Amino acid sequence: KKETEYIKDLEKRIDEYDVKNSKAVLFRDLPISDATLKGLKEAAFVKLTEIQRESIPVSLKGHDLLGAAKTGSGKTLAFLIPVLEKLYREKWTEFDGLGALIISPTRELAMQIYEVLTKIGGHTSFSAGLVIGGKDVKFELERISRINILVGTPGRILQHMDQAVGLNADNLQMLVLDEADRCLDMGFKKTLDAIVSNLPPSRQTLLFSATQSQSLADLARLSLTDYKSVGTADTV
Ligand code: ADP
Ligand code: MG
Repeated sequence: KKETEYIKDLEKRIDEYDVKNSKAVLFRDLPISDATLKGLKEAAFVKLTEIQRESIPVSLKGHDLLGAAKTGSGKTLAFLIPVLEKLYREKWTEFDGLGALIISPTRELAMQIYEVLTKIGGHTSFSAGLVIGGKDVKFELERISRINILVGTPGRILQHMDQAVGLNADNLQMLVLDEADRCLDMGFKKTLDAIVSNLPPSRQTLLFSATQSQSLADLARLSLTDYKSVGTADTV
């Protein structure tokens, strides 16, 4: 009951948040939960980077987003915070299955995202999983049905989706495509299209990239709905 009111209050703060005149400097200036704030504080994340300040409020409001900012600008937290907050406000539990899918082009990058997620997500109750290949598919399969937030590489995620009793994305709330430009450069376009075609269209999608290109714009058009563009990036 108390939590329901707390969530209602958060939703009101999100609704009222003025994206265009955002004066947020610190993470605690954002309409996000105490659980996430605690995790951020413990990991010594206090001040927002530019892409975080510009994109997180837009993502919290539920818009699809194309976020562009150079490497090292803090894009990981720019998507992990909205993911955690969305599932928190939905009161997601282990019985609700897969709530968020985060796709990254390489095993190393996927592992980094997973590490940041476990670091800041310690005060939430969501289960997180990493599927990057290398490990036995069966080993991953036994755990995958109970995972709420899944981080992985395109090929491995599609492999799990193609299993008869594998990944069930029917309930998915959020899709994140990290390093979308690199995904395209690495030839993952068809794999991404196949993954996206397995996802419910009602989901929210966040697409992040370090560069802008025609192929990225094409991917955005196909995977995003009425999206907002945030940040700046070199055009290639
Ligand atoms: P990108 O994905 O844009 O290349 P990352 O998310 O990997 O950037 O972040 C780059 C580095 O900056 C990481 O070491 C991360 O811990 C750090 N970082 C990100 N956001 C913040 C922040 N708000 N305050 C301090 N350090 C941050
Ligand atoms: Mg990154």
